Amino acid sequence: MKIKISNLPEGIHELELSKSVNELNLEEPFKNKINLDCKVDKSHHQIVVNCNLNIDADFVCDRCNTNYSDVIKTNFKLVYLFEKKISEATDINVKYISKTTEEIDLTKDAIDFAYLAVPMKKLCNVNCKGLCPSCGTNLNINECNCETENINPVWEKLLSLKDKLN
Ligand SMILES: [Zn+2]
Ligand SMILES: [Zn+2]
Repeated sequence: MKIKISNLPEGIHELELSKSVNELNLEEPFKNKINLDCKVDKSHHQIVVNCNLNIDADFVCDRCNTNYSDVIKTNFKLVYLFEKKISEATDINVKYISKTTEEIDLTKDAIDFAYLAVPMKKLCNVNCKGLCPSCGTNLNINECNCETENINPVWEKLLSLKDKLN
């Protein structure tokens, strides 16, 4: 996913880039294509690239164990400076190029940001009811008759403690 910059006039340019996960050797959970919708702002001393990224992914829900698909979306901004300034060297999103650089390659950054955007907690739905801890029924699909035994283990301990105190 490269942007040719050698003949790019100064100003704002919009462009779309995409590449298949197979071509990029991306593994699970990603599938299909990684899509970038970028705004490239070229000026005398720098190029600022601001991209919206989206990619399809397959996950297994942490609560109900069901497979589901989702679209991972994120945004990232990269600044390419034509001159190296020490003071900015600590910012990972700032890169340095020379006046003769012909193109900039967003591939590695796009992949990194895609992985960063994968949610820590995977839920098929924010309201997912999960599996019954007693009988394993998927409570999104069916109800079960375990309600009375459906006590959180923490409460169970407190209840037995309460019994002892009485
Ligand atoms: Zn779920
Ligand atoms: Zn149950």
